[in-house]
Amino acid sequence: GSLLAAHDLRKTYGSTPALDGASFSVHPGEVVAVMGPSGSGKSTLLHCLAGIITPDSGTITYAGRELSAMSDAERSALRRSDFGFVFQFGQLVPELTCVENVALPLRLNGVKRRAAERTAREWMERLEVDGLAAKRPGEVSGGQGQRVAVARALAGSPKVIFADEPTGALDSLNGERVMELLTEAARSSNVAVVLVTHEARVAAYSDRDVTVRDGRARDLEHAV
Ligand code: ADP
Ligand code: ADP
Repeated sequence: GSLLAAHDLRKTYGSTPALDGASFSVHPGEVVAVMGPSGSGKSTLLHCLAGIITPDSGTITYAGRELSAMSDAERSALRRSDFGFVFQFGQLVPELTCVENVALPLRLNGVKRRAAERTAREWMERLEVDGLAAKRPGEVSGGQGQRVAVARALAGSPKVIFADEPTGALDSLNGERVMELLTEAARSSNVAVVLVTHEARVAAYSDRDVTVRDGRARDLEHAV
């Protein structure tokens, strides 16, 4: 069955409807692209699914539990233990080295420094950025930084990775490499990916596309 599913989400900002009956689902190890024009509600959908914002109505179920039935503290704990995040840019902590950045989700989950950095280096190898371990984010290129960010998202052994325009700040060659490495690693580790993008060549790496228009996500599989 679905790992994460949303049904009939509604969310209004003042008088602006951002979500107007959106439904969505993703299975373990599945990569789903959320597509649609700017302002259609993609980011709002992603933030609801990740438990970062609360919809006005509708249900979100993760691993059989309803997000709205959890306390804020439970949702935060769930985000730390089960979810990974990749954003467009500016997500690495500038004061930390790259390997310390990748180790961060493990450290936040109570793993000791030495063990966390060993696991972090393994993920950096997979993302082909192990040579950057001692550098700070300010000393690496945009494409390298995004690969470090993907390694960090994977390092905490999440069940779901939320990626909001992860290649938006990259040229197409770097963007494709990031998508290749992200989707390869996610599929081989059975991690679900919710990928927000407005670019068809990025969505091409997904197993399935969901299109959002005017706050309405039509997820055909969900209706079955
Ligand atoms: P997308 O990610 O597809 O560009 P968003 O989810 O960011 O769409 O936005 C959907 C609509 O909700 C837009 O009209 C946007 O301006 C509005 N919106 C999003 N977030 C906020 C917010 N925090 N406050 C007010 N309006 C918002
Ligand atoms: P994206 O390109 O991913 O849709 P945006 O630039 O639209 O991101 O939005 C960035 C952040 O600003 C998001 O957290 C979103 O919720 C918020 N936001 C978007 N539109 C508005 C708005 N009209 N008023 C206030 N906040 C907004």
